[in-house]
Amino acid sequence: MLRLNLQRNISKRAFSQASTLLAAKKQHDVVIIGGGPGGYVAAIKAAQLGFDTACVEKRGRLGGTCLNVGCIPSKALLNNSHLYHQMKHDAKQRGIDIQGEVSVNVAQFQKAKDTAVKQLTGGIEMLFKKNKVTYYKGLGSFEDENSVKVSPIEGLEDGIAEETILEAKNIVVATGSEVTPFPGIQIDEERIVSSTGALSLKEVPKRLAIIGGGIIGLEMGSVYSRLGSKVTVVEFLPKIGASMDDEVAASTQKFLKKQGFDFKLGTKVLSGERNGDVVKIEVENVKSGKKETLEADVLLVAIGRRPYIEGLGAEKLGLEVDKRGRLVIDDQFNTKFPHIKVIGDVTFGPMLAHKAEEEGIAAVEYLKTGHGHVNYGNIPSVMYSHPEVAWVGKTEEQLKEAKISYKVGKFPFIANSRAKTNMDSEGFVKILIDADTERLLGAHIIGPNAGEMIAEAGLALEYGASAEDIARVCHAHPTLSEAFKEANLAAYSKPINF
Ligand SMILES: Cc1cc2nc3c(=O)[nH]c(=O)nc-3n(C[C@H](O)[C@H](O)[C@H](O)COP(=O)(O)OP(=O)(O)OC[C@H]3O[C@@H](n4cnc5c(N)ncnc54)[C@H](O)[C@@H]3O)c2cc1C
Repeated sequence: MLRLNLQRNISKRAFSQASTLLAAKKQHDVVIIGGGPGGYVAAIKAAQLGFDTACVEKRGRLGGTCLNVGCIPSKALLNNSHLYHQMKHDAKQRGIDIQGEVSVNVAQFQKAKDTAVKQLTGGIEMLFKKNKVTYYKGLGSFEDENSVKVSPIEGLEDGIAEETILEAKNIVVATGSEVTPFPGIQIDEERIVSSTGALSLKEVPKRLAIIGGGIIGLEMGSVYSRLGSKVTVVEFLPKIGASMDDEVAASTQKFLKKQGFDFKLGTKVLSGERNGDVVKIEVENVKSGKKETLEADVLLVAIGRRPYIEGLGAEKLGLEVDKRGRLVIDDQFNTKFPHIKVIGDVTFGPMLAHKAEEEGIAAVEYLKTGHGHVNYGNIPSVMYSHPEVAWVGKTEEQLKEAKISYKVGKFPFIANSRAKTNMDSEGFVKILIDADTERLLGAHIIGPNAGEMIAEAGLALEYGASAEDIARVCHAHPTLSEAFKEANLAAYSKPINF
């Protein structure tokens, strides 16, 4: 019996070796595994730098989490739910009378989102063609340190037909991340959903409970709250908004509360179970130990994301993985093999699309020139709620911890002419500058269009501008960005309009 099994195993191995020998072979200068914002940007840049470049993606569509089930679909829902909310609750005071009932057609609402996703993911395929990036639709895994095997995936439309070996001088891993499961809570993407399921609900739940008061949870909560859901957020920490400055996080919570959110902070989720069409969530107050059971029609589990390396074969090459599942690299994105680099969510740093993109560019620039650069101290974060929240650089808490003496400049949107005119004046700009040099250290904005305005702060940070440098730049009137200028003025002197 033992001999029979041994024989079977040997013949299986021999078969797989033989099929690898028979597999089609292609050669490229750079092979990128994963076609998300990190991978696809790296691929285009590598091709632009003159490398014969290939990108392997198993999803069937380019753009990764971001375009398919992340940034883009969530922003489509946020934008359109905001419009709906404005029409229903805000139009009248602006002198716009809407005849008849304003209601949501969920199917069309979802279709509008799907159209945006389809157009944008298709756009990347066109960019690949334009830049002559070879696109392999299939699962990429390490064959050895110089070759990647692309395997067909059953049911994948236009996928690669046969196993293909890509021999590569350089390999960039950009396999991204996946939803972190909550131990003991079974996601069915119907009543108990991850962010992916929350993006595609077929009806608006009357009661939506969310585990996790981070950006993704609060954005999805905003969508459904505007559409009529009663939203309850359960968060273990005593604050919402993850890495937001504490003062801004407190304001955000206040605004969301005004919009109808309920918050259970400092609260631990003990269990979550579906019972027919109802989900029961048992929670416990961390301080008092008091337990209660919440009921919801849909429960969204949004406790974060974890690196994704399933099927990659990283273990075959002995690539180092840390305790949090991230592929370990040095400061030039190198694994133990200098020609195998790793970028994006699957390695260190904030899980953000623009961070992955910057790394994609820097990684291939290293390949070409030996130099590349990402300034990790200057990566903006945005929460696309209303008002929006955006920040870059240090928070007050970080400065205190690092014992850096600083000055604060603040300017409220209520004193900004454009915000007032637009009847959209909640929030403020908060600027943190070095007490001695007055150099900008951090910018925190809660208010209309904060996500666009934060780019100016990023530019100023990158060039080491002082508050005075910024405040002496002529800003167009009437614009929201005048509030940014005034907050800088307030940081080193006094604001004019407040
Ligand atoms: C709901 C939601 C909203 C978000 N909103 C924002 C936002 O507004 N702004 C922002 O900056 N970020 C946002 N993010 C985060 C953002 O989506 C990620 O940070 C970003 O997509 C990471 O890019 P990446 O290229 O590293 O990985 P991914 O986008 O995850 O792409 C990795 C790709 O690799 C493919 N892949 C994996 N393994 C293999 C393999 N072995 N072979 C072939 N292909 C493989 C996967 O199919 C995937 O398409 C959001 C995320 C979610 C879930």
